[in-house]
Amino acid sequence: MKGKINDIFESIQGEGIYLGEEQLFVRFFGCNLECKFCDTQIHNFMEYEPQQLLQALEGYKNTCQAISFTGGEPLLQKDFLKEVMSLTKKQGYKNYLETNGILHQELEEVIDLVDIIAMDVKLPSSTGQRGFWQEHRAFLKIASRKEVFLKAVVCHGTEESDLRQALALIKEINPAAILVLQPNSFDDDERLRKKMHDFKEICAQEDVQGCIIPQIHKILKLE
Ligand code: SF4
Repeated sequence: MKGKINDIFESIQGEGIYLGEEQLFVRFFGCNLECKFCDTQIHNFMEYEPQQLLQALEGYKNTCQAISFTGGEPLLQKDFLKEVMSLTKKQGYKNYLETNGILHQELEEVIDLVDIIAMDVKLPSSTGQRGFWQEHRAFLKIASRKEVFLKAVVCHGTEESDLRQALALIKEINPAAILVLQPNSFDDDERLRKKMHDFKEICAQEDVQGCIIPQIHKILKLE
């Protein structure tokens, strides 16, 4: 079995509540969405057997405790992901899955091997796509068996009603989960900062732990 991998690299985690943690990254090729704000242009890949990928990871200095499986959408290659995660777990790594939070049937098949899930909530007024509320609901139910936090990108056009729907979903399924509000780096200005502040206030009013964390890679100009 071969997986399509765009890149393998070592860096610090640039998003979410593990911001700044040194991790190994495996960037999977391919995505099932086309978010308006997407900054991950993936045009090429190399093919790896699971064991070959493990060998490639061994080439990095071994100070990282976690491997971030990112994309694209790693769950699109769930059979390969499962094989690789079972190998990395045996090596003592934490498996950190970055996902758009939609492919819940695929998540069910790998959840036992995952330690931490960074799950997107795709707000339709941010992404320009349809809403995925049913998929997110099913996904969060499964993800909540493990450590999970959620991320939502906020743009100029993001509607408050979408945020409220996301908060209702979190309160229904996993009220302890943190929601990271991530400002869209393309819209970074005073107007967006005001909106971030207002959205964080709404999280507090709704008793959901919300925090504002920008993408640090853009600020520090890291990979
Ligand atoms: S899910 Fe992520 S990788 Fe896929 S299009 Fe959206 S932002 Fe880009």
